[in-house]
Amino acid sequence: MRIDIITLFPEMFEGPFGYSIVKRAIDKGIVEVYTHNLRDWSTDKHHRVDDTPYGGKGGMLMSPQPIAACIDELKSQREYDEVFYTSPDGELLDQPTLNKSINYTNIIILCGHYKGVDERIREHYITKEFSIGDYVLSGGELAAMVLVDGITRIIPGSIGDEMSALSDSFQNGLIAPPAYTRPRLFNNWEVPEILLSGNEKKIDEWKHEQSLKRTKERRPNLLKDKKID
Ligand code: SAH
Repeated sequence: MRIDIITLFPEMFEGPFGYSIVKRAIDKGIVEVYTHNLRDWSTDKHHRVDDTPYGGKGGMLMSPQPIAACIDELKSQREYDEVFYTSPDGELLDQPTLNKSINYTNIIILCGHYKGVDERIREHYITKEFSIGDYVLSGGELAAMVLVDGITRIIPGSIGDEMSALSDSFQNGLIAPPAYTRPRLFNNWEVPEILLSGNEKKIDEWKHEQSLKRTKERRPNLLKDKKID
């Protein structure tokens, strides 16, 4: 999958994409990530990318010209499945959405800044808007990182042990069960006996019960639409 990120701060991505699963996926060629500095597309002699909003006070808006120029150029080079915009009023990102997203070939993610972008860009260029939560961040970069990380880790080949991503929270509509590792006794605290029994069927049942219990306690909303087997 190719991911083109349009941003005012390309350097911000170096950290999060330079480690762990995303880095490995990039190194293996499972995902290709390109960042584009919006200022490079500004026709303004000072490379300005923002301006004051019409009829408003306080705060700046991202101007349409550099964004349109950048997206037009990218689109002239290849077809894109989606042009995403990070926005607090977009669709809330969740695991089912990420799961569907692994089938994209090429996507663009536009990161907003200041008070956001000129509405005409949202109307005419953006095909999907997503939010990472009901709160406001300074810019869309962190949201773009969340989308890229969330998609990348579930693309087959990114994680060594395929089952590991599938057994995480939300994959089956439930929260993951509690997990333990060595030592068996730590500070006099025991590991649940069942996990040491070697009885795979019983262990699976226990994990499922624990998942259900946790989901009821912590995310009862997940159970509302789910048929429990
Ligand atoms: N004026 C906007 C907020 C602007 S915040 C409003 O009231 O809705 C600046 C930019 O940060 C936004 O344009 C968006 O790209 C990004 N952003 C802020 N919060 C976000 C969130 N919860 N999810 C995704 N992107 C967000």
